[in-house]
Amino acid sequence: LQQEQVIIIGAGPCGLAAAIELRARGVDALIIEKENLVHSISRYPTYMSFFSTPEVLEIGGVPFTTAHEKPTRLEALNYYRTVALRAGVRIRAYEKVEAVVKQPDGFTLSTRTRHGEERAYRCGSVVVATGYFDHPNRIGIPGEDLPKVSHFFREAHPYTGMDVAIIGGSNSAIDAALELERAGAKVTVVYRKPDYSPSIKPWVLPGFDSLVRKERIRMLFHSRVTEIRAASVVVRSESGETSELPNDFVLALTGFHPDRDFLRSMGVTIEPEGYPSFHSDTMESNVPGLYLAGVVASRHEANEIFIETGRFHGVKIADHLLGRA
Ligand code: FAD
Repeated sequence: LQQEQVIIIGAGPCGLAAAIELRARGVDALIIEKENLVHSISRYPTYMSFFSTPEVLEIGGVPFTTAHEKPTRLEALNYYRTVALRAGVRIRAYEKVEAVVKQPDGFTLSTRTRHGEERAYRCGSVVVATGYFDHPNRIGIPGEDLPKVSHFFREAHPYTGMDVAIIGGSNSAIDAALELERAGAKVTVVYRKPDYSPSIKPWVLPGFDSLVRKERIRMLFHSRVTEIRAASVVVRSESGETSELPNDFVLALTGFHPDRDFLRSMGVTIEPEGYPSFHSDTMESNVPGLYLAGVVASRHEANEIFIETGRFHGVKIADHLLGRA
């Protein structure tokens, strides 16, 4: 049983920031990551630019400078990788934490490596920084599990000439629609709200809206996909009209939520709205010694915490943890 003072689960930007903060205060935390560091960012759309400017994505006090106003996915991968390596953060990559059990004097963790080896750890405190990107919000409609449906968009090329329905109206949906239109896909965006979301990047919306006006992108507001069939989708408008549109692929870009079952298995209470219970001034959950960092602690539709804010959770955690010590 390997003994550690603090184990952080997840090497996303917020888990890394927490590790660097703890290290600066003399606690050499171990990060256990089921893939490799900043795995969520590596799964973003290939040509994505962040909506944040680089300085608000910085961790460990290391400057992040980019050629253009907003960093690209590739620049962010380079940045977080370099900061983590230079800071000497200890990361066990490709090792999944399968169970966290509270003990009278701390926690035990069980993990499995990519080779199938089982490992066990004992530690005083746990920081859960597992994000939400592995758990897309399901729509709960017939046909959602067909192979033509994806909750993730990588790049537009495979969709050239195809009828693609995008479900959702977030930045991810708008960005994907623009890229698909440029690649020659026939794009329909189906969005349940009556108008554009106020969170759409303001510098992107005019260009998108102009393509809608020119009928190069079909935008269906106040509408829901009610069924996905092999070669079509069924759309119902708020007024009750139903139509069946030809369709080759569906991108259901409907957001994400934290892994509630995993949190519950550790003893964390899930509040009625579906989000974990924690003290916002310390980030400690209802389980003493078990902290949340990053977007796993998001409360409302998972869009209140970003890297911009979640990168500071490590400061609150270190304050509380070392005060306690
Ligand atoms: P994550 O980065 O998701 O890291 C969690 C890590 O935990 C993952 O690496 C995962 O593999 C690992 N993990 C999960 N379960 C286990 C387990 N059981 N055992 C071991 N490891 C585990 N935010 C901004 O501030 N600005 C932006 O411009 C911005 N743009 C975005 C664009 C897109 C397309 C998306 C999807 C998100 C964007 N966000 C942005 C949000 C931002 O990406 C997330 O907030 C960020 O990744 C959260 O960091 P995190 O460290 O909390 O979680």
